[in-house]
Amino acid sequence: MKTIFNYIDGKLVKPKKANYIDVFNPSRGKVYAKCPESSSSDLTLAIKSSKKALNSWKELSNEKRSKILFNIANEIEKKHKEFAIAETIDNGKPLNDSRSIDVPRAINNLRFYASAVINDSSESHSLPNNVINYTLRDPLGIVACISPWNYPLHLLTWKIAPALAIGNCVIAKPSEVTPMTAYLFSKVCIKVGLPKGVLNIVHGSGGNIGQEIVEHPDIKAVSFTGGTKTGKIISKTASSLLKKVSLELGGKNPIIVFDDCNYEEMLKTTIKSSFGNQGQICLCGERIFIQDSIYTKFKKDFVKEAKKLKIGDPLKSTTNQGSIVSKAHYHKILSYFNAVKDSGAKFIIGGRSKKVRGDCSDGWVIEPSIVEDLSRKTKCYKEEAFGPVVSLHKFKTRDEVIQLANETNYGLSASIWTSNLKTAHKVAQMIDFGIVWVNTWNLRDLRTPFGGMKDSGLGREGGKESIRFFSEPKNVCINYS
Ligand code: NAD
Repeated sequence: MKTIFNYIDGKLVKPKKANYIDVFNPSRGKVYAKCPESSSSDLTLAIKSSKKALNSWKELSNEKRSKILFNIANEIEKKHKEFAIAETIDNGKPLNDSRSIDVPRAINNLRFYASAVINDSSESHSLPNNVINYTLRDPLGIVACISPWNYPLHLLTWKIAPALAIGNCVIAKPSEVTPMTAYLFSKVCIKVGLPKGVLNIVHGSGGNIGQEIVEHPDIKAVSFTGGTKTGKIISKTASSLLKKVSLELGGKNPIIVFDDCNYEEMLKTTIKSSFGNQGQICLCGERIFIQDSIYTKFKKDFVKEAKKLKIGDPLKSTTNQGSIVSKAHYHKILSYFNAVKDSGAKFIIGGRSKKVRGDCSDGWVIEPSIVEDLSRKTKCYKEEAFGPVVSLHKFKTRDEVIQLANETNYGLSASIWTSNLKTAHKVAQMIDFGIVWVNTWNLRDLRTPFGGMKDSGLGREGGKESIRFFSEPKNVCINYS
Protein backbone atom coordinates (compact mmCIF):
# COMPACT_ATOMS: atom_id res chain seq x y z
CA MET A 1 0.00 0.00 0.00
CA LYS A 2 1.46 3.35 -1.05
CA THR A 3 0.97 6.49 1.01
CA ILE A 4 0.64 9.88 -0.58
CA PHE A 5 1.69 12.97 1.36
CA ASN A 6 0.81 16.62 1.06
CA TYR A 7 3.51 18.94 -0.28
CA ILE A 8 3.60 21.86 2.10
CA ASP A 9 6.39 24.37 2.71
CA GLY A 10 8.77 22.44 0.47
CA LYS A 11 8.31 19.15 2.33
CA LEU A 12 6.24 15.99 2.04
CA VAL A 13 4.02 15.95 5.12
CA LYS A 14 1.26 13.84 6.63
CA PRO A 15 -2.16 15.42 7.08
CA LYS A 16 -2.49 16.88 10.60
CA LYS A 17 -5.58 14.82 11.44
CA ALA A 18 -4.19 11.60 9.93
CA ASN A 19 -7.33 11.08 7.82
CA TYR A 20 -6.89 9.34 4.48
CA ILE A 21 -8.97 8.48 1.41
CA ASP A 22 -8.64 5.12 -0.38
CA VAL A 23 -7.14 5.40 -3.84
CA PHE A 24 -8.14 2.66 -6.29
CA ASN A 25 -6.45 1.03 -9.22
CA PRO A 26 -9.57 1.01 -11.42
CA SER A 27 -8.34 -1.68 -13.77
CA ARG A 28 -8.00 -4.05 -10.80
CA GLY A 29 -10.92 -2.64 -8.78
CA LYS A 30 -8.62 -2.59 -5.72
CA VAL A 31 -7.29 -0.05 -3.27
CA TYR A 32 -3.58 0.44 -3.82
CA ALA A 33 -2.79 3.70 -2.07
CA LYS A 34 -4.08 6.20 0.45
CA CYS A 35 -4.25 9.92 -0.01
CA PRO A 36 -4.58 12.64 2.65
CA GLU A 37 -8.06 13.91 3.44
CA SER A 38 -6.65 17.29 4.41
CA SER A 39 -8.34 19.62 6.85
CA SER A 40 -8.25 23.34 7.59
CA SER A 41 -5.10 22.98 9.72
CA ASP A 42 -3.22 21.64 6.67
CA LEU A 43 -4.56 24.49 4.56
CA THR A 44 -3.51 27.03 7.23
CA LEU A 45 0.07 25.71 7.03
CA ALA A 46 0.01 25.83 3.24
CA ILE A 47 -1.28 29.41 3.16
CA LYS A 48 1.24 30.49 5.80
CA SER A 49 4.09 29.05 3.76
CA SER A 50 2.84 30.62 0.50
CA LYS A 51 2.54 34.01 2.21
CA LYS A 52 6.17 33.75 3.32
CA ALA A 53 7.32 32.76 -0.17
CA LEU A 54 5.26 35.22 -2.19
CA ASN A 55 7.40 38.36 -2.24
CA SER A 56 10.68 36.72 -3.09
CA TRP A 57 9.02 34.54 -5.77
CA LYS A 58 7.31 37.43 -7.51
CA GLU A 59 10.45 39.59 -7.28
CA LEU A 60 12.56 36.86 -8.86
CA SER A 61 13.26 37.67 -12.51
CA ASN A 62 11.08 36.01 -15.16
CA GLU A 63 14.23 34.29 -16.42
CA LYS A 64 14.90 32.66 -13.05
CA ARG A 65 11.30 31.48 -12.62
CA SER A 66 11.36 30.22 -16.19
CA LYS A 67 14.58 28.29 -15.55
CA ILE A 68 13.01 26.46 -12.59
CA LEU A 69 9.96 25.47 -14.66
CA PHE A 70 12.23 24.20 -17.44
CA ASN A 71 14.12 22.17 -14.83
CA ILE A 72 10.88 20.64 -13.56
CA ALA A 73 9.91 19.74 -17.15
CA ASN A 74 13.33 18.19 -17.80
CA GLU A 75 13.15 16.13 -14.63
CA ILE A 76 9.69 14.80 -15.56
CA GLU A 77 11.07 13.92 -18.97
CA LYS A 78 13.82 11.89 -17.29
CA LYS A 79 11.15 10.09 -15.23
CA HIS A 80 8.75 9.80 -18.18
CA LYS A 81 8.25 6.05 -17.73
CA GLU A 82 7.59 6.26 -13.99
CA PHE A 83 5.02 9.02 -14.49
CA ALA A 84 3.29 7.17 -17.34
CA ILE A 85 2.96 3.93 -15.38
CA ALA A 86 1.71 5.81 -12.31
CA GLU A 87 -0.92 7.61 -14.38
CA THR A 88 -2.16 4.37 -15.89
CA ILE A 89 -2.38 2.56 -12.56
CA ASP A 90 -4.18 5.51 -10.96
CA ASN A 91 -6.57 6.31 -13.81
CA GLY A 92 -7.04 3.10 -15.80
CA LYS A 93 -6.08 4.67 -19.13
CA PRO A 94 -3.92 2.67 -21.58
CA LEU A 95 -0.20 3.02 -20.94
CA ASN A 96 0.31 3.99 -24.58
CA ASP A 97 -1.88 7.05 -23.96
CA SER A 98 -0.13 8.00 -20.71
CA ARG A 99 3.20 7.74 -22.54
CA SER A 100 2.23 9.54 -25.71
CA ILE A 101 -0.36 12.04 -24.45
CA ASP A 102 -0.49 12.69 -20.70
CA VAL A 103 3.20 12.94 -19.82
CA PRO A 104 4.42 14.75 -22.97
CA ARG A 105 1.56 17.24 -22.69
CA ALA A 106 2.45 17.96 -19.07
CA ILE A 107 6.07 18.56 -20.09
CA ASN A 108 4.90 20.82 -22.94
CA ASN A 109 2.69 22.85 -20.61
CA LEU A 110 5.64 23.59 -18.33
CA ARG A 111 7.98 24.42 -21.22
CA PHE A 112 5.37 26.51 -23.00
CA TYR A 113 4.77 28.83 -20.02
CA ALA A 114 8.45 28.81 -19.00
CA SER A 115 9.11 30.18 -22.46
CA ALA A 116 6.02 32.43 -22.68
CA VAL A 117 6.95 34.38 -19.58
CA ILE A 118 10.34 35.36 -20.98
CA ASN A 119 8.84 36.27 -24.34
CA ASP A 120 5.91 38.27 -23.03
CA SER A 121 5.75 42.02 -23.57
CA SER A 122 3.83 44.75 -21.83
CA GLU A 123 1.46 47.18 -23.50
CA SER A 124 1.88 50.92 -23.83
CA HIS A 125 -0.42 53.52 -25.34
CA SER A 126 0.70 57.04 -26.08
CA LEU A 127 -1.45 60.14 -26.39
CA PRO A 128 -0.57 63.41 -28.09
CA ASN A 129 0.88 66.14 -25.86
CA ASN A 130 3.46 64.04 -24.01
CA VAL A 131 1.30 61.48 -22.31
CA ILE A 132 2.05 57.79 -22.21
CA ASN A 133 0.28 54.87 -20.56
CA TYR A 134 1.97 51.62 -19.77
CA THR A 135 0.31 48.56 -18.33
CA LEU A 136 2.01 46.42 -15.74
CA ARG A 137 0.80 42.90 -15.10
CA ASP A 138 1.31 41.95 -11.46
CA PRO A 139 0.79 38.43 -10.15
CA LEU A 140 -2.39 38.10 -8.13
CA GLY A 141 -0.80 36.59 -5.02
CA ILE A 142 -1.87 33.16 -3.78
CA VAL A 143 -4.15 31.35 -6.22
CA ALA A 144 -5.96 28.00 -6.21
CA CYS A 145 -5.68 25.43 -9.01
CA ILE A 146 -8.28 22.66 -8.77
CA SER A 147 -8.05 19.86 -11.31
CA PRO A 148 -10.02 16.74 -12.35
CA TRP A 149 -9.17 13.05 -12.78
CA ASN A 150 -9.31 12.53 -16.54
CA TYR A 151 -5.86 14.02 -17.33
CA PRO A 152 -4.45 14.32 -13.82
CA LEU A 153 -0.88 15.49 -14.49
CA HIS A 154 -1.62 17.23 -17.78
CA LEU A 155 -4.41 19.42 -16.37
CA LEU A 156 -2.57 20.11 -13.10
CA THR A 157 0.44 21.46 -15.00
CA TRP A 158 -1.79 23.33 -17.48
CA LYS A 159 -2.91 25.48 -14.55
CA ILE A 160 0.09 25.74 -12.27
CA ALA A 161 2.64 26.44 -15.05
CA PRO A 162 1.21 29.86 -16.06
CA ALA A 163 0.32 30.74 -12.46
CA LEU A 164 3.86 30.08 -11.21
CA ALA A 165 5.60 31.48 -14.30
CA ILE A 166 4.30 34.96 -13.71
CA GLY A 167 5.00 34.99 -9.98
CA ASN A 168 1.97 33.68 -8.12
CA CYS A 169 2.14 31.17 -5.33
CA VAL A 170 -0.22 28.22 -5.86
CA ILE A 171 -2.31 26.03 -3.64
CA ALA A 172 -3.11 23.05 -5.87
CA LYS A 173 -5.78 20.46 -5.16
CA PRO A 174 -5.63 17.51 -7.53
CA SER A 175 -8.56 15.15 -7.85
CA GLU A 176 -8.80 12.80 -4.88
CA VAL A 177 -9.66 10.05 -7.40
CA THR A 178 -6.23 10.26 -9.11
CA PRO A 179 -3.71 11.96 -6.81
CA MET A 180 -0.59 9.89 -7.60
CA THR A 181 1.15 11.87 -10.34
CA ALA A 182 0.63 15.15 -8.43
CA TYR A 183 2.47 13.45 -5.57
CA LEU A 184 5.32 12.42 -7.89
CA PHE A 185 5.30 15.97 -9.22
CA SER A 186 5.84 17.34 -5.70
CA LYS A 187 8.91 15.09 -5.37
CA VAL A 188 10.27 16.57 -8.60
CA CYS A 189 9.70 20.11 -7.28
CA ILE A 190 11.75 19.24 -4.20
CA LYS A 191 14.51 17.70 -6.33
CA VAL A 192 14.89 20.72 -8.61
CA GLY A 193 14.78 23.17 -5.71
CA LEU A 194 11.51 25.00 -6.29
CA PRO A 195 11.59 27.49 -3.39
CA LYS A 196 9.47 26.26 -0.49
CA GLY A 197 5.93 27.60 -0.28
CA VAL A 198 5.76 28.63 -3.95
CA LEU A 199 3.65 25.57 -4.67
CA ASN A 200 1.72 23.69 -2.01
CA ILE A 201 -0.22 20.58 -3.02
CA VAL A 202 -3.00 19.86 -0.57
CA HIS A 203 -4.82 16.59 -1.23
CA GLY A 204 -8.37 15.72 -0.24
CA SER A 205 -11.95 15.62 -1.35
CA GLY A 206 -13.61 18.46 -3.20
CA GLY A 207 -16.57 19.09 -0.92
CA ASN A 208 -14.26 19.38 2.11
CA ILE A 209 -10.81 20.83 1.53
CA GLY A 210 -11.66 21.94 -2.03
CA GLN A 211 -14.49 24.10 -0.78
CA GLU A 212 -12.30 25.48 2.05
CA ILE A 213 -9.62 26.47 -0.43
CA VAL A 214 -12.14 28.35 -2.56
CA GLU A 215 -13.51 30.15 0.51
CA HIS A 216 -10.16 31.03 2.05
CA PRO A 217 -9.73 34.83 2.23
CA ASP A 218 -6.05 34.68 1.18
CA ILE A 219 -6.87 32.87 -2.08
CA LYS A 220 -7.20 35.58 -4.72
CA ALA A 221 -8.39 33.51 -7.67
CA VAL A 222 -9.62 30.03 -8.48
CA SER A 223 -8.78 28.18 -11.66
CA PHE A 224 -11.04 25.15 -11.87
CA THR A 225 -11.50 22.29 -14.32
CA GLY A 226 -14.19 19.71 -13.64
CA GLY A 227 -17.91 19.08 -13.86
CA THR A 228 -20.50 21.77 -14.54
CA LYS A 229 -22.35 21.14 -11.26
CA THR A 230 -19.15 21.69 -9.26
CA GLY A 231 -18.27 24.69 -11.40
CA LYS A 232 -21.56 26.34 -10.50
CA ILE A 233 -20.92 25.80 -6.76
CA ILE A 234 -17.41 27.21 -7.05
CA SER A 235 -18.62 30.14 -9.14
CA LYS A 236 -21.25 31.01 -6.53
CA THR A 237 -18.77 30.89 -3.66
CA ALA A 238 -16.00 32.73 -5.49
CA SER A 239 -18.19 35.48 -6.91
CA SER A 240 -19.78 36.25 -3.52
CA LEU A 241 -16.21 36.84 -2.29
CA LEU A 242 -15.31 38.86 -5.42
CA LYS A 243 -12.63 36.39 -6.45
CA LYS A 244 -11.52 35.92 -10.00
CA VAL A 245 -12.67 32.54 -11.30
CA SER A 246 -11.91 30.53 -14.43
CA LEU A 247 -14.12 27.52 -15.13
CA GLU A 248 -13.41 24.74 -17.64
CA LEU A 249 -16.44 22.46 -17.46
CA GLY A 250 -18.25 19.63 -19.21
CA GLY A 251 -19.42 19.28 -22.80
CA LYS A 252 -21.86 17.48 -25.08
CA ASN A 253 -19.88 18.04 -28.20
CA PRO A 254 -21.13 17.54 -31.76
CA ILE A 255 -19.15 15.86 -34.54
CA ILE A 256 -20.63 17.02 -37.85
CA VAL A 257 -19.95 14.82 -40.87
CA PHE A 258 -20.82 16.13 -44.36
CA ASP A 259 -20.86 13.72 -47.29
CA ASP A 260 -18.03 15.56 -49.07
CA CYS A 261 -15.47 15.03 -46.30
CA ASN A 262 -12.19 13.13 -46.47
CA TYR A 263 -13.94 9.94 -45.36
CA GLU A 264 -10.96 7.82 -44.27
CA GLU A 265 -9.44 10.60 -42.18
CA MET A 266 -12.82 11.41 -40.65
CA LEU A 267 -13.48 7.78 -39.73
CA LYS A 268 -10.08 7.27 -38.11
CA THR A 269 -10.37 10.49 -36.09
CA THR A 270 -14.00 9.97 -35.11
CA ILE A 271 -13.06 6.67 -33.46
CA LYS A 272 -10.60 8.67 -31.32
CA SER A 273 -13.03 11.50 -30.61
CA SER A 274 -15.60 8.93 -29.48
CA PHE A 275 -13.60 6.42 -27.46
CA GLY A 276 -10.25 8.04 -26.62
CA ASN A 277 -9.53 7.74 -22.87
CA GLN A 278 -12.67 5.55 -22.66
CA GLY A 279 -14.72 8.61 -23.71
CA GLN A 280 -13.53 10.48 -20.62
CA ILE A 281 -12.23 13.56 -22.44
CA CYS A 282 -14.16 16.79 -22.12
CA LEU A 283 -13.64 17.23 -25.90
CA CYS A 284 -15.06 13.83 -26.90
CA GLY A 285 -17.92 14.06 -29.38
CA GLU A 286 -20.86 12.25 -27.81
CA ARG A 287 -23.30 13.33 -30.56
CA ILE A 288 -22.38 12.46 -34.14
CA PHE A 289 -24.42 14.07 -36.91
CA ILE A 290 -24.02 12.39 -40.31
CA GLN A 291 -25.38 13.65 -43.61
CA ASP A 292 -28.13 11.24 -44.68
CA SER A 293 -26.50 10.26 -48.00
CA ILE A 294 -23.58 8.56 -46.17
CA TYR A 295 -25.35 7.57 -42.95
CA THR A 296 -25.66 3.84 -43.71
CA LYS A 297 -22.06 3.55 -44.92
CA PHE A 298 -20.78 5.52 -41.93
CA LYS A 299 -22.71 3.36 -39.48
CA LYS A 300 -21.33 0.14 -40.97
CA ASP A 301 -17.71 1.35 -41.11
CA PHE A 302 -17.80 3.06 -37.73
CA VAL A 303 -19.14 -0.05 -36.00
CA LYS A 304 -16.50 -2.17 -37.74
CA GLU A 305 -13.69 0.13 -36.54
CA ALA A 306 -15.10 0.36 -33.00
CA LYS A 307 -15.16 -3.44 -32.79
CA LYS A 308 -11.41 -3.49 -33.53
CA LEU A 309 -10.62 -1.57 -30.33
CA LYS A 310 -8.70 -3.78 -27.91
CA ILE A 311 -10.19 -3.73 -24.44
CA GLY A 312 -7.91 -5.07 -21.73
CA ASP A 313 -5.21 -4.53 -19.16
CA PRO A 314 -4.19 -0.88 -19.59
CA LEU A 315 -0.57 -1.74 -18.75
CA LYS A 316 -0.33 -3.93 -21.88
CA SER A 317 0.93 -2.18 -24.98
CA THR A 318 -1.72 -3.88 -27.16
CA THR A 319 -4.61 -2.34 -25.19
CA ASN A 320 -6.31 0.80 -26.44
CA GLN A 321 -9.40 0.72 -24.21
CA GLY A 322 -8.66 0.63 -20.48
CA SER A 323 -11.01 0.93 -17.53
CA ILE A 324 -13.37 3.60 -16.27
CA VAL A 325 -11.77 5.75 -13.59
CA SER A 326 -13.87 4.77 -10.57
CA LYS A 327 -16.67 2.52 -9.45
CA ALA A 328 -18.96 5.54 -8.96
CA HIS A 329 -18.32 6.80 -12.49
CA TYR A 330 -18.71 3.29 -13.93
CA HIS A 331 -22.18 3.03 -12.35
CA LYS A 332 -23.06 6.54 -13.53
CA ILE A 333 -22.30 5.60 -17.14
CA LEU A 334 -24.27 2.35 -16.83
CA SER A 335 -27.22 4.34 -15.46
CA TYR A 336 -27.17 6.38 -18.69
CA PHE A 337 -27.25 3.10 -20.60
CA ASN A 338 -30.35 2.03 -18.68
CA ALA A 339 -31.96 5.36 -19.52
CA VAL A 340 -31.13 4.81 -23.21
CA LYS A 341 -32.74 1.36 -23.14
CA ASP A 342 -35.80 2.68 -21.26
CA SER A 343 -36.24 5.36 -23.91
CA GLY A 344 -36.59 2.70 -26.63
CA ALA A 345 -33.35 3.58 -28.42
CA LYS A 346 -31.03 0.74 -29.34
CA PHE A 347 -27.35 0.05 -28.92
CA ILE A 348 -25.80 -1.06 -32.21
CA ILE A 349 -22.82 -2.27 -30.19
CA GLY A 350 -21.93 -2.14 -26.49
CA GLY A 351 -24.34 -0.73 -23.95
CA ARG A 352 -22.90 -2.94 -21.24
CA SER A 353 -19.94 -3.58 -18.98
CA LYS A 354 -17.20 -6.00 -19.90
CA LYS A 355 -15.36 -8.65 -17.90
CA VAL A 356 -11.66 -8.68 -18.68
CA ARG A 357 -9.92 -11.96 -17.92
CA GLY A 358 -6.91 -12.32 -15.62
CA ASP A 359 -5.56 -9.56 -13.37
CA CYS A 360 -8.23 -7.13 -14.49
CA SER A 361 -11.24 -9.32 -13.77
CA ASP A 362 -12.46 -6.96 -11.01
CA GLY A 363 -11.80 -3.81 -13.06
CA TRP A 364 -14.49 -1.30 -14.06
CA VAL A 365 -14.67 -1.76 -17.80
CA ILE A 366 -17.35 -0.68 -20.28
CA GLU A 367 -17.54 -1.63 -23.94
CA PRO A 368 -17.35 1.06 -26.61
CA SER A 369 -21.03 1.77 -27.22
CA ILE A 370 -22.93 3.21 -30.19
CA VAL A 371 -26.58 4.22 -29.96
CA GLU A 372 -29.07 4.80 -32.75
CA ASP A 373 -32.52 6.40 -32.73
CA LEU A 374 -31.88 8.22 -29.47
CA SER A 375 -34.64 10.71 -28.78
CA ARG A 376 -33.37 14.26 -28.47
CA LYS A 377 -35.55 14.58 -25.38
CA THR A 378 -33.68 11.93 -23.33
CA LYS A 379 -31.09 12.70 -20.67
CA CYS A 380 -28.52 10.64 -22.54
CA TYR A 381 -28.85 13.04 -25.48
CA LYS A 382 -28.80 16.16 -23.33
CA GLU A 383 -26.33 15.36 -20.54
CA GLU A 384 -22.64 14.57 -20.65
CA ALA A 385 -22.19 10.80 -20.07
CA PHE A 386 -18.39 11.14 -20.02
CA GLY A 387 -17.90 7.53 -21.05
CA PRO A 388 -17.37 5.38 -24.15
CA VAL A 389 -20.74 6.11 -25.71
CA VAL A 390 -21.89 8.08 -28.75
CA SER A 391 -25.22 8.50 -30.50
CA LEU A 392 -25.67 8.68 -34.28
CA HIS A 393 -28.08 11.15 -35.90
CA LYS A 394 -28.96 11.88 -39.53
CA PHE A 395 -29.21 15.34 -41.03
CA LYS A 396 -30.03 16.66 -44.49
CA THR A 397 -28.94 20.28 -44.73
CA ARG A 398 -26.35 22.66 -43.35
CA ASP A 399 -28.96 24.79 -41.60
CA GLU A 400 -30.56 21.76 -40.00
CA VAL A 401 -27.28 20.52 -38.54
CA ILE A 402 -26.41 23.96 -37.18
CA GLN A 403 -29.65 23.95 -35.27
CA LEU A 404 -29.11 20.37 -34.04
CA ALA A 405 -25.54 21.05 -32.91
CA ASN A 406 -26.64 24.10 -30.93
CA GLU A 407 -29.48 22.23 -29.27
CA THR A 408 -27.59 21.75 -25.99
CA ASN A 409 -26.85 23.67 -22.81
CA TYR A 410 -23.15 23.01 -23.36
CA GLY A 411 -20.75 24.83 -25.67
CA LEU A 412 -17.27 23.37 -25.35
CA SER A 413 -16.05 21.97 -28.68
CA ALA A 414 -17.18 20.78 -32.09
CA SER A 415 -15.66 19.11 -35.15
CA ILE A 416 -16.84 19.77 -38.69
CA TRP A 417 -15.86 17.36 -41.47
CA THR A 418 -16.23 18.76 -44.99
CA SER A 419 -14.09 19.63 -47.99
CA ASN A 420 -16.25 22.66 -48.78
CA LEU A 421 -14.63 25.82 -47.39
CA LYS A 422 -17.85 27.78 -47.45
CA THR A 423 -19.68 25.10 -45.47
CA ALA A 424 -16.82 24.91 -42.96
CA HIS A 425 -16.74 28.67 -42.39
CA LYS A 426 -20.48 29.05 -42.24
CA VAL A 427 -20.99 26.23 -39.73
CA ALA A 428 -18.00 27.33 -37.61
CA GLN A 429 -19.47 30.83 -37.48
CA MET A 430 -22.99 29.74 -36.56
CA ILE A 431 -22.37 27.14 -33.87
CA ASP A 432 -22.00 28.12 -30.22
CA PHE A 433 -18.86 26.31 -29.14
CA GLY A 434 -15.63 27.77 -27.79
CA ILE A 435 -13.36 25.42 -29.78
CA VAL A 436 -14.21 24.44 -33.35
CA TRP A 437 -12.08 22.02 -35.36
CA VAL A 438 -12.46 21.59 -39.11
CA ASN A 439 -11.30 18.26 -40.55
CA THR A 440 -9.53 17.38 -37.32
CA TRP A 441 -10.15 16.90 -33.60
CA ASN A 442 -8.19 17.73 -30.45
CA LEU A 443 -5.37 19.31 -32.46
CA ARG A 444 -3.86 21.61 -29.86
CA ASP A 445 -1.78 24.74 -30.20
CA LEU A 446 -1.09 26.03 -26.70
CA ARG A 447 -1.21 29.66 -27.89
CA THR A 448 -4.91 29.49 -28.72
CA PRO A 449 -7.83 30.25 -26.35
CA PHE A 450 -9.17 27.04 -24.83
CA GLY A 451 -12.56 26.82 -23.16
CA GLY A 452 -16.29 26.74 -23.57
CA MET A 453 -19.46 28.78 -23.77
CA LYS A 454 -22.77 28.33 -21.95
CA ASP A 455 -22.63 25.54 -19.31
CA SER A 456 -19.14 24.55 -20.49
CA GLY A 457 -17.38 27.32 -18.68
CA LEU A 458 -16.35 30.84 -18.00
CA GLY A 459 -13.17 32.40 -19.34
CA ARG A 460 -10.45 30.77 -21.39
CA GLU A 461 -7.12 29.11 -20.74
CA GLY A 462 -4.08 28.89 -23.01
CA GLY A 463 -1.54 31.35 -24.38
CA LYS A 464 -2.06 34.89 -23.18
CA GLU A 465 -5.47 34.03 -21.73
CA SER A 466 -3.92 32.16 -18.78
CA ILE A 467 -1.31 34.87 -18.26
CA ARG A 468 -4.07 37.46 -18.15
CA PHE A 469 -6.16 35.37 -15.77
CA PHE A 470 -3.33 34.90 -13.28
CA SER A 471 -2.33 38.58 -13.32
CA GLU A 472 -3.80 41.95 -12.44
CA PRO A 473 -3.32 44.78 -14.93
CA LYS A 474 -2.13 48.05 -13.49
CA ASN A 475 -2.15 51.03 -15.82
CA VAL A 476 0.31 53.86 -15.20
CA CYS A 477 -0.45 57.10 -17.01
CA ILE A 478 2.41 59.64 -17.19
CA ASN A 479 2.21 63.23 -18.26
CA TYR A 480 5.81 64.11 -19.05
CA SER A 481 5.24 67.49 -20.66
P1 NAD B 1 -15.50 17.22 -10.40
O1 NAD B 1 -16.21 18.49 -10.62
O2 NAD B 1 -16.18 16.16 -9.62
O3 NAD B 1 -14.11 17.45 -9.64
C1 NAD B 1 -13.08 18.29 -10.17
C2 NAD B 1 -12.21 18.78 -9.04
O4 NAD B 1 -12.99 19.65 -8.21
C3 NAD B 1 -11.69 17.68 -8.11
O5 NAD B 1 -10.39 18.01 -7.70
C4 NAD B 1 -12.66 17.75 -6.94
O6 NAD B 1 -12.12 17.26 -5.74
C5 NAD B 1 -12.90 19.24 -6.85
N1 NAD B 1 -14.14 19.66 -6.17
C6 NAD B 1 -15.33 19.00 -6.12
N2 NAD B 1 -16.22 19.74 -5.40
C7 NAD B 1 -15.59 20.89 -5.04
C8 NAD B 1 -15.99 22.05 -4.31
N3 NAD B 1 -17.21 22.20 -3.81
N4 NAD B 1 -15.09 23.02 -4.13
C9 NAD B 1 -13.83 22.91 -4.63
N5 NAD B 1 -13.39 21.84 -5.32
C10 NAD B 1 -14.27 20.83 -5.53
O7 NAD B 1 -15.09 16.73 -11.84
P2 NAD B 1 -14.41 15.36 -12.24
O8 NAD B 1 -15.45 14.31 -12.12
O9 NAD B 1 -13.10 15.23 -11.51
O10 NAD B 1 -14.06 15.62 -13.78
C11 NAD B 1 -14.92 15.31 -14.83
C12 NAD B 1 -15.52 16.56 -15.42
O11 NAD B 1 -14.50 17.47 -15.77
C13 NAD B 1 -16.30 16.29 -16.68
O12 NAD B 1 -17.52 16.98 -16.64
C14 NAD B 1 -15.40 16.88 -17.77
O13 NAD B 1 -16.10 17.30 -18.93
C15 NAD B 1 -14.78 18.02 -17.06
N6 NAD B 1 -13.54 18.43 -17.71
C16 NAD B 1 -13.53 19.61 -18.38
C17 NAD B 1 -12.38 20.02 -19.04
C18 NAD B 1 -12.34 21.32 -19.80
O14 NAD B 1 -11.25 21.75 -20.13
N7 NAD B 1 -13.46 21.95 -20.07
C19 NAD B 1 -11.24 19.21 -19.01
C20 NAD B 1 -11.29 18.02 -18.31
C21 NAD B 1 -12.45 17.63 -17.65
